[in-house]
Amino acid sequence: MTEGEILIALGQHDLAIARAEKALDELPEKHAILQLRHRLQEIEAALDKADAYCRKAEALVSRAQDEATSVQEKMDAEQAKVLSGAVSNPKELQNLTKEIAALGRRKEAVEREELGYMEKAEAGQTQRARVEAALSDGRAKEAGLIERFKTRGGELQRDLERMRAERALLVGRLEPSTAARYESVRTAKHGIAVGEFTDGMCSACRTQLPAGEAQRVAAGPEVGECPNCRRILVVSAASRS
Ligand SMILES: [Zn+2]
Repeated sequence: MTEGEILIALGQHDLAIARAEKALDELPEKHAILQLRHRLQEIEAALDKADAYCRKAEALVSRAQDEATSVQEKMDAEQAKVLSGAVSNPKELQNLTKEIAALGRRKEAVEREELGYMEKAEAGQTQRARVEAALSDGRAKEAGLIERFKTRGGELQRDLERMRAERALLVGRLEPSTAARYESVRTAKHGIAVGEFTDGMCSACRTQLPAGEAQRVAAGPEVGECPNCRRILVVSAASRS
């Protein structure tokens, strides 16, 4: 390979490397994973909320159950007094009967409350199950995306490694001063350091050189400089006069 050919190959490698780096950075899976993780955080927060709701409703159910039991125990005790015959005073008996009736009403009210809390607890459990399903769905999706990201990202990484190794070989074949010139032009010219001179035109800036200038370039060395964009201009043997 001539110096000009090496420079052109180097320029092509650098373009391909830049494209692969961009593709790696912009893998759709990467974006999708970030978005999904955000959504998963929201679902986790919803699960915490559903958990708290269930715990509260379940605590209310058990409190109502305890109260119903305690009212029942009081009723049983008052009933036992009546049945024991120990209370003979009619006024006292009447009071006991009234109290038993009041306890019965209280027990019914507590049982109604308990039913209401049970419905709430059930609704809460249904909601929690829904959120749990959404969470495990999302996590499965995340695992799939990570797998795809690894596959596609891995391919791009391997391509990049290969191209970087080839690039290093090309650079090693250049005179150190030419390699340095290539790097400094590349930095100054947004990644494109070399143009090819074809039909009086520089392929990098795509400018048609005036006839006189084109003739001078064609008559010059294989590796020159584009008078327009100041990039390295390679004049192939075929284009040289
Ligand atoms: Zn140019």
